[in-house]
Amino acid sequence: MKKSDTRILTTHAGSLPRNQVLTDLLIRQEQGEAINLAQLERTTADAVQHVIHKQLEAGVDIGNDGEQPRIGFQTYVPQRMRGFGGESKRPTPQDMREFPDFMAIMQKRQMSRAKVFNAPQAVAEVQYEDLSGVQNECTLFRYCLDQASQPFTEPFMTAASPGIICTTMLNAYYDSHERYVFAVAEQMRKEYEYIHSQGFALQLDAPDLAMERTFLFQDNSIQEFRKIVEMHIAAMNHALQNIPRDRVRLHVCWGNYDGPHNHDVPLADILPILYRAKVGALSLEMSNPRHQHEYKVFKRYKLPASMMLIPGVIDSTTNYIEPAEVVADRICQVVDVIGDRSRVIAGSDCGFGTFAGWEMVAEGVVWEKLKACSAGAQLATQRLWGKGGLKATSARKQKKVVAKRQTGKTVKTGRKVATKKTAAKTTRKPVKKVVMKKVATKKVSTRKASRRGR
Ligand SMILES: [Zn+2]
Repeated sequence: MKKSDTRILTTHAGSLPRNQVLTDLLIRQEQGEAINLAQLERTTADAVQHVIHKQLEAGVDIGNDGEQPRIGFQTYVPQRMRGFGGESKRPTPQDMREFPDFMAIMQKRQMSRAKVFNAPQAVAEVQYEDLSGVQNECTLFRYCLDQASQPFTEPFMTAASPGIICTTMLNAYYDSHERYVFAVAEQMRKEYEYIHSQGFALQLDAPDLAMERTFLFQDNSIQEFRKIVEMHIAAMNHALQNIPRDRVRLHVCWGNYDGPHNHDVPLADILPILYRAKVGALSLEMSNPRHQHEYKVFKRYKLPASMMLIPGVIDSTTNYIEPAEVVADRICQVVDVIGDRSRVIAGSDCGFGTFAGWEMVAEGVVWEKLKACSAGAQLATQRLWGKGGLKATSARKQKKVVAKRQTGKTVKTGRKVATKKTAAKTTRKPVKKVVMKKVATKKVSTRKASRRGR
């Protein structure tokens, strides 16, 4: 996964809005209607090309196909795997049960005719034999990337985690939830490995590790839920056994809807378990009112050196367009607790097209929000790398933080330089000199830049 030592990179959680024609075709196909497959293919290809163009235009560094070919971020799975049939009856989320008047508002909006709470269930042994769905998706994405005006810094492709598949497509066949999850993991391994083999960074979408606390596991104790999270991660790690950790990022969220969320499991209760996932980056909600304070949890539970963090710095459920200043503040807050600017990538809280028809943010607004994310990342880069802009907010504190980081950075560079010259001549003294000189130079240029800013 691309790591940047020169600036804050940007990405998003995966799904992007689908146009109306594509939405209708995908929903009709899911409902079993005969649709014009050639039309679906054409419309999907145009849609993928469109979202790649819009992401690049918005300055997204690590982009994808916006999940345009899929009906939903996890409900696409029964279309590819055998063993599913009938209908799952997912429980009503705890916060929606508690506030039926909020439920009524949701129903009035008539969001999504795609199957969200009533997807098929597992009625036989799950088997993933025909990989053409994921193969076509990867081929189309690669083709559209080749046609694009410029490349992404890195392309990524999403896939559903074993846990979210098993909590959405409920179990009516296996004798335990655990057996079901591991059976799905063993089959989904094929899809994950295929995506990896095509050179895309793999993102696993796993709201099961947080959201399902208030969905399927709302009657369990927190201890029981934590055990379930442990087991889901063990199954996921099984499925990732042949993929290097640094080629996988994990998206965890509390459900992409602007509900009360008052029963969401606190991040502190699950974060140490999330660290067991064999992934190189964690993508977490950190912009919406319910979770924006939780960056502080990273002070208590230090991010493992093998992981990067992709905090949501734009919300995916409101049409407010965040000012760059707000985005930059969020990025800097996270960098501050992580203590490493090169391990933070600016992202979105969740997707902007979770299911076909499940879009809370208007398409035009989505692209502006992604532009705001890039502008905020640029501003944060200026603050964190000391190229001006320091006076913009909390000037004194920022200067202190940046100076401290520059010192740390320069020590490393100094040692490296000394080692390159000659290992024998490496002593502490010359290293110190290099450090002092570099810091002094930086400070001068920072001041110059600040003056220019005024
Ligand atoms: Zn999400």
